[in-house]
Amino acid sequence: MSSTQEWPAARYLTAGGAHVDLTPVTELDDADVPQTVGMTALCTACTATVTEMDTHPYRRTGEREAHRWAQDHAAWCRRMARPAGATS
Ligand SMILES: [Zn+2]
Repeated sequence: MSSTQEWPAARYLTAGGAHVDLTPVTELDDADVPQTVGMTALCTACTATVTEMDTHPYRRTGEREAHRWAQDHAAWCRRMARPAGATS
């Protein structure tokens, strides 16, 4: 049986078992075609986030920096993701 689920551009597993998800930042170019201009990383447990924009149009510097931040954050963030339907 196959299952489908939404998957971000990249996902890092944190020390607490949550995820840091990377999502491209896009802007429309002159022909209204979406172009990737950066990358956002979001921790699904503690909601820490960073958006790194490309500083050079062809080198994807934002993506590289976002991956670096995600890797670093995932290594130490121990906050657990809140389960769906949890009460407090
Ligand atoms: Zn976190």
